Amino acid sequence: MAETLPFQAEVRQLLDLVVHSLYSDRDIFLRELVSNASDALDRARLLALTQTDLRPAEGEPHIELSVDKERGTITVRDNGIGLTRQQTVDHLGTIARSGTKDFAKALREKGNSAEGLIGQFGVGFYASFMVAHKVEVHTLSAEPGAEPVLWTSDGGGEFILEPGSRDTRGTAVTLHLRSDSTEYLDTWKLKDIVKRHSAFVAFPILMDGEKLNEQQALWTRDPAEVTEDEYKGFYKQAMHEWQEPAAWLHFRAEAPLEYQAILFFPTERAFDLDYPDAKRGVRLYQRRVLIQEASDQFLPRYLRFVKGVIDAPEVSLNVSREILQQTPVLRSIRAQVVKRVLRRLKELGRDDVAAYTKFWETFGATLKEGVAEDRENVEGITPLLRFRSTAGDEWRDLATVKAEMKEGQKELWYLAGTDLGRMRASPQLEAFRKKGWEVLLLSDPVDEWVVMNLTEFDGVALKSVARGELENEDDPIADEARKHAEPFAAWVKELLGDGVVGVRPSRRLTDSPSVLVDEGNVSSNMERILRSTRQGGGPKATRVLEINPEHVLVKRLVALHGEGNVADAEPLARLLLDYAQLAEGHVEDVVGLTSRLSALMLRAAGG
Ligand code: ADP
Ligand code: MG
Repeated sequence: MAETLPFQAEVRQLLDLVVHSLYSDRDIFLRELVSNASDALDRARLLALTQTDLRPAEGEPHIELSVDKERGTITVRDNGIGLTRQQTVDHLGTIARSGTKDFAKALREKGNSAEGLIGQFGVGFYASFMVAHKVEVHTLSAEPGAEPVLWTSDGGGEFILEPGSRDTRGTAVTLHLRSDSTEYLDTWKLKDIVKRHSAFVAFPILMDGEKLNEQQALWTRDPAEVTEDEYKGFYKQAMHEWQEPAAWLHFRAEAPLEYQAILFFPTERAFDLDYPDAKRGVRLYQRRVLIQEASDQFLPRYLRFVKGVIDAPEVSLNVSREILQQTPVLRSIRAQVVKRVLRRLKELGRDDVAAYTKFWETFGATLKEGVAEDRENVEGITPLLRFRSTAGDEWRDLATVKAEMKEGQKELWYLAGTDLGRMRASPQLEAFRKKGWEVLLLSDPVDEWVVMNLTEFDGVALKSVARGELENEDDPIADEARKHAEPFAAWVKELLGDGVVGVRPSRRLTDSPSVLVDEGNVSSNMERILRSTRQGGGPKATRVLEINPEHVLVKRLVALHGEGNVADAEPLARLLLDYAQLAEGHVEDVVGLTSRLSALMLRAAGG
């Protein structure tokens, strides 16, 4: 007997969009059905490796298209894994993905331009309703004991399940075309779509006895003979991607270790890239037979955005053939693959700055994890890093910054913070601005940690402009002026108590009266980051207040203090700390500051 079941709310939302929106490229529904058929064949092959009691397929694995002009239907058939009754409910009635929420969110954000979402979020099957007013799925699972099922829906809120009549394993999806979609009854059109969108499907696609695809394993071909369009087509069809790849690499290693790979850098972050339980990795083949859909053994976590295939016949599998064994073969393939990926990115950075910039802005944060995670390849990763700097608005790489170091400059300098605009205006940079030295501006919260893991680049130390006492030749501030201000500085320290660990005359200021400097290992930037991520704070930064003895205000204060006029000097001296905090954008004692300011304003107004 038939049973009517509701679609999950997200599916209803999606269907509503699919049925009622206009798409510029409705042809893609066929690509989605063919790709599902191909997945079903792959799954059957994978499962057969470990499960011996599966219902055997009738004939060789294949996909077949047919048209019934009288009934106005087209059908996509496969002899793959099929679906059990429960699976039709789970897979065709819901979006059974951890990304469902993201999908619903993206749907709300992108509104009618949802075309790109189909495929990106794995909702391909529902694309059928772009062209069909009714869809039937006749299926029989390869699982022993499974019963045939007929799933039917008109794309409204519900679907109907009833006993089916198939007696061989596999699935046939029949679309009853809408009156505005009868062009798909034309077999020429269907063949053309398959040739354009499904050329790289690994199983034969048949229509009227003709084979429509070549089933070439692109990775086995000579890279010199593969065209750009073929790589892009392969990426979209075999990797189920919507966008074009940003770049790719294709290599074939022979003796002593044989393997082939095509790896792609996507243009956009997958919505689940940072989900801890997301399936990720490359597709593993052994002599063109798919072994694993997502093998995470070949690339480290910080390269988890890389997509592609690796054909590695010599990698050994465990008894259940599901897990790769950690063997020297696997380890050495992995080591080589990582090096090639890093080298390819370095090339991209050198040859196509615009593409690399886009890549960096998309995946840089992930790639940076490698500096700490993969000490072995740090030398391959550092040339890929990009930073903002005082040299302009462009991204800078360390080699360029090093090459353009000024005379007398011994270190690569950086300033860590959260707000690029505020950092550019920071008093910390005054001495550097005067000398014309470039300072890297680390505005990503992980940057400072990355740089601390590096400590040096190509023999040059990386150093914070905000830490410790500067010791440069040609300081902007004369030694005598500093000496003269020392008693005053000691007095300010007493005044401020534990608010700072010290007060000293500065070597780094030109225009500002005061600035705060880090002393210990924990910088104030890090303290703030830790405070925002951990409950109860974490380690505290230790900070020194530096004063500029050549600033008019400080000179006046030194004089007042020298005359013993502590009453007049005190409120202004306290403001030196307020000033330094304000410049960083983080005032601790707001109440104290406002009361000091109002007292000062009153005095200035002659009150
Ligand atoms: P995706 O292919 O990304 O999983 P789809 O919406 O295209 O998403 O398909 C949903 C699910 O329906 C598939 O994951 C699969 O479980 C099932 N399915 C669709 N078509 C077939 C088929 N021809 N054979 C077996 N299962 C299928
Ligand atoms: Mg699909």
